[in-house]
Amino acid sequence: MSKELHKILQAREERAQKRSEIAAASKASVSLSLNIPSYPKHNQLCRDVFPWIVEELKIHLLAHRVELGAEDLITDEAGLLYLAVLEESDDLKSVKEITEDFESKHAVSRILDVDVYDESARPVSSGKKKPCIICQDKAAVECMRERKHDYQELRANIFEILQDYKDQYLAMEVSEKLSEICSRALLYEVSLSPKPGLVDFYDSGAHTDMNYYSFLKSTAALAPLWKDFALAAWKEDAELSRALSEIRVLGLKAEQRMFAATRNVNTQKGLIFLLGISVYTVSHLLKNHQELNVQNIRNCIRAICKDLVNAELVASSKKQSSHGEKTFQKYGVKGAGARYEAQEGFPVVFETALPFLEKQEKLDFQDKEVMENILSQTLLNIIANTNDSNVLYRKGTEIAEELKKLASEALLNKDNYNKLALFCGEQQISPGGSADMLAVTLFFYDVKQEID
Ligand SMILES: [Zn+2]
Repeated sequence: MSKELHKILQAREERAQKRSEIAAASKASVSLSLNIPSYPKHNQLCRDVFPWIVEELKIHLLAHRVELGAEDLITDEAGLLYLAVLEESDDLKSVKEITEDFESKHAVSRILDVDVYDESARPVSSGKKKPCIICQDKAAVECMRERKHDYQELRANIFEILQDYKDQYLAMEVSEKLSEICSRALLYEVSLSPKPGLVDFYDSGAHTDMNYYSFLKSTAALAPLWKDFALAAWKEDAELSRALSEIRVLGLKAEQRMFAATRNVNTQKGLIFLLGISVYTVSHLLKNHQELNVQNIRNCIRAICKDLVNAELVASSKKQSSHGEKTFQKYGVKGAGARYEAQEGFPVVFETALPFLEKQEKLDFQDKEVMENILSQTLLNIIANTNDSNVLYRKGTEIAEELKKLASEALLNKDNYNKLALFCGEQQISPGGSADMLAVTLFFYDVKQEID
């Protein structure tokens, strides 16, 4: 007998011993393992995905009211095994059916083995035969008996299926997490009150066509769409050189949803573009196992938005269609707004706002006062250090510079905040570009806090 086989048999014996111990307490049990032929019985890929499959099985059992007792996660020479005590054993046939249902619907169905053992540690069988991993219509045991497939071929097939599952699982996890962070950034930004000239909980600032609820509506409309920006970066043929056009397609769809929700009021159009790029960037770095540091993030944003100002604003400024384009023609790069920020890798976010935010006390949602204070200071910091293209477009350089000056004074001394608010009120200005940058800053702050 080979040394490997000896070790596998020994491990299997120890597993049988564990099942007998459960049976000795008059309990039935359920187990999950991966069916990996030949040796070794597990590799890093198996160890990465196994805990996820265990969690999925547990949720499936819980949903079918199958109650589990003590559980064990075993890694040994025989492979990976999850073993749990079944609290009730009056209807083990049904439990077996429930596990078969899980097995048959799972993405790695053919590799899973879910077994149910009765109180005497005997396997409960349904008589169904598992299909072969390679052949569509043959039972796995038959192919094994006939030695129809080479072990290397079988293993290669299995690891390919597991790798696909891992990629899809991670893509979904990353995209859901980033969506959560996006929606939260938007909600925090709009809820921060007071904000000079901007829509907040109490006031609509310089706006007559929108209020706090307009923002809740558009934030909700956008919530299901952020994950698409993340998944786009995860596609097999995704390339940074084509990312911008992908982001535009998704952005236009999001824009339509926003306008439909707000009855044609532009609440967050700029943010869709800025956060769309941000989500794509973080997702791209995660997919390619690159560290989420400022340098990598900014390089990626710059690569996506290469020559954006030139390509879009210089080329189209003669037509003068959008605010951004008109402001660019009049004020050059200073007025290029979101596009310039994107092309340069969000300098205001990474050189000013994020370092400022990270120097403050940690954002803790349970302390409302501290939260509001930090968010407000960060916004003032952005207004003081940015050329808000919204303000430039409507009011010109002088007013824009005065706004920056008043914001820095309010940042130094809270008593000066009213002067800034009054100025925005009198001049009817709304630093919307700065509010957008606050949301982007919050996005990257949370990415750093919550994703490693
Ligand atoms: Zn086969």
